[in-house]
Amino acid sequence: MSSKIKALDVSVVNKIAAGEIIISPVNALKEMMENSIDANATMIDILVKEGGIKVLQITDNGSGISKADLPILCERFTTSKLQKFEDLSQIQTYGFRGEALASISHVARVTVTTKVKEDKCAWRVSYAEGKMLESPKPVAGKDGTIILVEDLFFNIPSRLRALKSQNDEYSKILDVVGRYSIHSKSIGFSCKKFGDSNYSLAVKPSYSVQDRIRTVFSNSVASNIISLHIDKIEELNLECVDGRVCNLNFISKKSISPIFFINNRLVTCDPLRRALNSVYSNYLPKGNRPFIYLGILIDPASVDVNVHPTKREVRFLSQDEIVEKIANQLHAELSTIDTSRTFKASSISTSQSGSLLLSGSNIGNEEKRKALRQAQVVENSYPTTNNQLAGVKRQENKLVRTDSSQAKITSFLSSSQQFNFNESSMKRQVNQPEAKTNSHQLQDREEESLAENEQLHDSSSNSDNKLKELRWKKQKLDTDSTPNIDSEKYTPPVSKNGYMTVPKERVNVNLTSIKKMREKVDDSIHRELTEIFANLNYVGVIDEERRLAAIQHDLKLFLVDYGSVCYELFYQIGLTDFANFGKINLQSVDVSDDIVLYKLLSEFEELSDDVSKEKVIGKIWDMSSMLNEYYSIELVNDSPDGNLKYVKLKTLPLLLKGYIPSMAKLPFFMYRLGREVSWEDEQECLDGILKEIALLYVPDMVPKVDASKVSLSESEKAQLIDKKENISSLLENILFPCIKRRFLAPRHILKDVVEIANLPGLYKVFERC
Ligand code: ADP
Ligand code: MG
Repeated sequence: MSSKIKALDVSVVNKIAAGEIIISPVNALKEMMENSIDANATMIDILVKEGGIKVLQITDNGSGISKADLPILCERFTTSKLQKFEDLSQIQTYGFRGEALASISHVARVTVTTKVKEDKCAWRVSYAEGKMLESPKPVAGKDGTIILVEDLFFNIPSRLRALKSQNDEYSKILDVVGRYSIHSKSIGFSCKKFGDSNYSLAVKPSYSVQDRIRTVFSNSVASNIISLHIDKIEELNLECVDGRVCNLNFISKKSISPIFFINNRLVTCDPLRRALNSVYSNYLPKGNRPFIYLGILIDPASVDVNVHPTKREVRFLSQDEIVEKIANQLHAELSTIDTSRTFKASSISTSQSGSLLLSGSNIGNEEKRKALRQAQVVENSYPTTNNQLAGVKRQENKLVRTDSSQAKITSFLSSSQQFNFNESSMKRQVNQPEAKTNSHQLQDREEESLAENEQLHDSSSNSDNKLKELRWKKQKLDTDSTPNIDSEKYTPPVSKNGYMTVPKERVNVNLTSIKKMREKVDDSIHRELTEIFANLNYVGVIDEERRLAAIQHDLKLFLVDYGSVCYELFYQIGLTDFANFGKINLQSVDVSDDIVLYKLLSEFEELSDDVSKEKVIGKIWDMSSMLNEYYSIELVNDSPDGNLKYVKLKTLPLLLKGYIPSMAKLPFFMYRLGREVSWEDEQECLDGILKEIALLYVPDMVPKVDASKVSLSESEKAQLIDKKENISSLLENILFPCIKRRFLAPRHILKDVVEIANLPGLYKVFERC
């Protein structure tokens, strides 16, 4: 095969060159936006159809292009900005090579409508392959320029195919417009999709930088930023650095790539990005991504912008020194605010006798925000990472017993736990209106918080995902045969035959609904709080009626709503051990009679007639094989004719070895299973059942015993005192060790944990005495 070297056709050369600069719609847009900024526009409006492929239109109110320049506007290397090579070193404008419009006209149809102030009318003209197609037509128009780019890449089908989806292309456009609108102070921007009545982005010229960040990103970004400023440093040819970066209360797993403008050009600068990220890694909790926006002005003579056709990459003299300077300044700023870190939790009003658990859901949003603000003021700082702790030399007054493996004396005292299951106690509990509302509130609260989580849902980093996978796999069954309590120190409250572990292979759960639910939990995790729980030292119960316990972590003492924490804990155990629960055999839990559903449900007034009771039982019975397989809830019906009146409950899932839920809640559990759980949608159903099980497992509230109260008989008082002791030993020996071992604290639980003291603070108080 013989081949000759031939010169390429000019139009092919131009197409190739254009393809180097314009890779996707966003490149064309960036070039045109920069031209508008160069033309001193104060308002830039962008209209996009089909991801910018069909239509990309930029309207500005800048200087306009004079009619005389129109014929050569789209020719290569025609520019009004650079005359000789030496000028390259002094260039202040965005464009300088006269390549952008030429390139665009080689890969799309371009129409320009423009008017300079001096002209009476605007001029419209179209271009193809760098050439003006006809002489300019006079049209009505305002001062400024409208550049309409249509059918991008119509003549390069391969490029067209390589583009991402229209939505992806639009997101890229929106991202770049957003970045420019943050940096380009006193310029307004708007961007919308063709046919949409609403703008995707609207920034007024008068907006402050903070307003711009709020509009482009979110309020949570805008309200957590600080300024970063460096003045002129002559020897580095640095004019100044001015930017906004996030403070340490900023929580985001979503990665916003740093916004760097060097000499007003949006650029990437890897050495700078790496240096700043590494500074943040010392301060932000692992997996959290910082927000960084920096505008850097460097003497143009020491910047090489001509590294890449798209001008995205820059190099500059003294790069290492400048990067180091900026990183050091960031370090200095962050270390001063590190002492004022706060974490959110609502304050509790102890004057109210209502459960802390309820406080969150009763109040409106504004009040919640107010409470949060107050709480932030009240709370003190605490170190975030262990590294930081390790680096600090401890003063003597800060040394406390924190060795959690050191058992407390009480754990050696055996408890006389018993689980009372008799009809009368059952009735009393069920009829307590408080118990009812409480369960409802828990349910509501969970739903509310899940909705919240959904809004907060962020895509997480790879390392995060690995961690998550591990976590769900790593979680050992708390019900398996390995004892997780020290049997020498502690006697489990029920005889061994109270529950049975099922000797079966662990079933692998591949249901997407369960995976989704697990992801939801993972996405809601608050790392710092989880760390507090993982390293907690249990102090004791504070109030059994309001379910408050005290825990110590590091030098701080926290008050924890253990009702709320246990609910989340059991929900998480339910998710982890789904389809792999052991069984609690109800016959051996001190139950003399069979547990007949019909009897349980007769507690409820609204189910007084047989028909409605049987309807509820029928619903549960229909699902009995699923309940048994997935949840170890075994139901049997011995009656020969299958009469629903005889459906009995045999077993309950064993979530945590050594812990049996209060039997008094059984009627309520069954009632809600039949009435509240939605059986239609798979995920809702599986989730609903897990939540009901978690509710069943939450430790009971134990009312206060007032010794002077005559209404209670001696035996009733004794019973309550007994119950209290049981709860406190359960919390100490079973529940809190389990919380420590495996609890992943979701963000919404922040309001159930309140810091009540910190040791250095107390020392200060005592020193004064
Ligand atoms: P460069 O920006 O590198 O000079 P371009 O191809 O982007 O090259 O633009 C060519 C010329 O067209 C610019 O130098 C400028 O004079 C003019 N121009 C382009 N867009 C506009 C605009 N929106 N307003 C005013 N003049 C413009
Ligand atoms: Mg340009």
